[in-house]
Amino acid sequence: MLKDKVALVTGASRGIGREIALTLADAGAAVVVNYNGSKEAAEAVVAEIESKGKRAQAYQCNVGDFAASKAMIDDVIKSFGRLDILVNNAGITKDNLMMRMSEADFDAVIDSNLKGTFNCIRHVSRQMLKQKGGRIINMSSVVGRCGNPGQLNYAASKAGIIGLTMSAAKELASRGITVNAIAPGFIQTEMTAAMTEDAKSAISKMIPMGMLGETKDIANLVLFLASDQARYITGQTISVDGGMFMG
Ligand code: NAP
Repeated sequence: MLKDKVALVTGASRGIGREIALTLADAGAAVVVNYNGSKEAAEAVVAEIESKGKRAQAYQCNVGDFAASKAMIDDVIKSFGRLDILVNNAGITKDNLMMRMSEADFDAVIDSNLKGTFNCIRHVSRQMLKQKGGRIINMSSVVGRCGNPGQLNYAASKAGIIGLTMSAAKELASRGITVNAIAPGFIQTEMTAAMTEDAKSAISKMIPMGMLGETKDIANLVLFLASDQARYITGQTISVDGGMFMG
């Protein structure tokens, strides 16, 4: 399905990004596994892909850093000769009620989640325009659509990604590049494992399907959006949340 394609997945050392990297590799793509701090975990993802005879490379880069993300993308294009799929998955939370939220925690979440997404789109678009095609998939969140107390910074970053997705889609559509976002609900990863059992049970009650999702539920949609089958879909934010948000 993705033979001869090159994909960059940000934040692919763990959780949803790891699953996306493995899924795109299984579909035939060469995959760059970006990470920030988890070197060993990222190298384990690369080893798993290589053990199946596919090409992969780990790349450390804080996507919130404009110059560093440019250097990463330039290096990827140099090593692989092209770049077809960008998945902006890297993200963090630094939760607190607004009255207690520090400026540093607001800035850190906006930098990693929203600016990181801008940085990578900004730097891949020249290459994708040259190739007259590409797929960009951004990770938003249900929280970016309906808000959540204690997550003002995170919700702002994820709502920002939705606006950024629509604008980039309009700028790039005539050149065969699609830009879409995914809004996961609550998915079982380290990010949600940190929640208390009470919080998890309260959330399950808000999900019509009554359970948290799995990383594969997100990776399957990424694979579809990255494929030729999704060629006429752009500027959309698609929920994968067991029915939690129906807008
Ligand atoms: P996770 O398990 O905490 O993993 C986060 C990943 O992002 C890690 O690989 C981490 O790398 C990387 N990362 C964080 N900041 C980075 C930066 N500045 N530069 C490069 N990489 C960075 O998170 P997850 O649950 O898989 O979530 C993945 C994405 O889905 C996030 O954008 C998150 O907001 C979104 N999402 C998740 C859920 C959920 O329920 N889990 C729901 C909605 C949306 P290191 O390990 O190297 O630090």
